[in-house]
Amino acid sequence: MLRTRTGKRTAAAAIKIAVDMVGEKLIKKDEAIMRVTGEQIEQLLHPIFDPAAKAAAIKEKRLLTKGLSASPGAATGMAVFDADTAAEKGNAGEAVILVRPETTPDDIHGMDAARGILTARGGMTSHAAVVARGMGKTCVAGAEDIKADEHAKRFTVGGTTVKEGEWMSIDGSTGEVFTGRIATKDAELSGEFGTFMKWVDDFRTIGVRANADIPRDAKKAREFGAEGIGLCRTEHMFFEESRLPSMVEMIMAKDLDGRKKALAKLLPFQRSDFKGLLKEMAPFPVTIRFLDPPLHEFLPKREELMVKIARLEAKGQGGSELAEAERTLARVQELHEFNPMLGLRGCRLGIMYPEITEMQARAVFEAACELAKEGVKTVPEIMIPLVGFIGEFRHQEAIVRRVAAEVMKERKTKVEYLVGTMIEVPRAAVTAAEIAKAAEFFSFGTNDLTQTTLGFSRDDAGKIIKNYVELGLFEKDPFVTIDQDGVGALVVQGITGGRTTRPKLKIGICGEHGGDPTTVKFCARVGMNYVSCSPFRVPVARHAAAQAALGGSSYTSK
Ligand code: PEP
Ligand code: MG
Repeated sequence: MLRTRTGKRTAAAAIKIAVDMVGEKLIKKDEAIMRVTGEQIEQLLHPIFDPAAKAAAIKEKRLLTKGLSASPGAATGMAVFDADTAAEKGNAGEAVILVRPETTPDDIHGMDAARGILTARGGMTSHAAVVARGMGKTCVAGAEDIKADEHAKRFTVGGTTVKEGEWMSIDGSTGEVFTGRIATKDAELSGEFGTFMKWVDDFRTIGVRANADIPRDAKKAREFGAEGIGLCRTEHMFFEESRLPSMVEMIMAKDLDGRKKALAKLLPFQRSDFKGLLKEMAPFPVTIRFLDPPLHEFLPKREELMVKIARLEAKGQGGSELAEAERTLARVQELHEFNPMLGLRGCRLGIMYPEITEMQARAVFEAACELAKEGVKTVPEIMIPLVGFIGEFRHQEAIVRRVAAEVMKERKTKVEYLVGTMIEVPRAAVTAAEIAKAAEFFSFGTNDLTQTTLGFSRDDAGKIIKNYVELGLFEKDPFVTIDQDGVGALVVQGITGGRTTRPKLKIGICGEHGGDPTTVKFCARVGMNYVSCSPFRVPVARHAAAQAALGGSSYTSK
């Protein structure tokens, strides 16, 4: 009897073998593409643990726990428990892993400087997961066994405690968390990889864009082969340190005049952001999504303010600091919602405060006009989020078109542009034929579409979903791979409806699913024009799109 087994090989070897075998005429290019997996492409783009070092760590029982594999790669560094320390040490060249209960927009600077991010709570579309993937940074999210204590600067798992400054390692491709150091190997892209990816592009029929908010990410995305930006989340521009005070001033303003004054301060920032992004991507299209998150996200947390007020009062410190904290708390209470994800966000914000949409539209068109004068042709695609009713879209569209006409007249320049919408609530998918009467393009926001169709919170459901997968109730996490029979059916309905009204309607996807190989194949099969994903997943999406064209689709519509 002969016993055989598959020869183990690294991702780099798989590509080299495939390319060499085509060179030796043993297989054709299409077979080479089918032989390589999406996981292998992904592995190539990120650092990995040295296999021997990882095996040793497992043998030494240093594997602490497992969370969600939120953003691939491997990282080793010293544990830190707040973003400021991560930024300080990371920017000084030290290797740190930022450990948080969960991350918020306030943590971005620390995430940026850390080698990896570990959170105790949150799912695959939580803040930590989405931002880390965008940065191409290793992240393990929702490691529920971890008790992270920011104040005591330590975390515990069972009987083990890891204190600030102690070494630890995380694998964002498997979700594993280790104590101590594990040697990593940097990503290296060989010449064969370039050859292979060129073949991939010759076969694929749908476009691949990137989700990017800043010129640095747009540049990376282009290097990885993106053909445009499918989602620029403009709120990420407001969260930056230099802009946050004006954003807070806008939210705290008592009246329209106060809001307009604060928005005027934000306008130059937005204009230069958009200019940078449009220029970096030209001549490819850039989809700019107008402000989406609830306003309270820009203010300090309610509990933090309460503690601050109590401390000031206990010390007998009144004065302006106390008055300011009380004023902010009152506004935070006013903005408080039981379900912020179902509340004042998306286009509802722009409808309540049209001056925000107006400022963003002005910034886009002023940037595009300036670029046109410099000889750079761009076609901004303005995208209105969370639309469920055509009336909501028309309200926002009217503002955008009015401002576009004003700016072009002032600047004596003409620029082309589109106004489209995200399809991210079921009603939008169901009434897509109606919405397409006004919207010039659709982009499926499948993070929210999954949340609103399944009724699972994208931020909190990690634990439930993990259990469902273990029980076999879910084959895969629906926030990672699209739920084809439920959310997918709505996507098909949206595409069919939209193209009944506009046969050539441009349609894409910009939820996190846009970088998942199975979902990319689904998107190609149902007739989307492009997928959009974080820059580091662009090669994976290009490869999956080629496999889809070659018939490797796993779309199983009933
Ligand atoms: C989405 O909902 O899929 C989306 C892309 O928007 P965001 O993740 O910013 O809500
Ligand atoms: Mg959304």
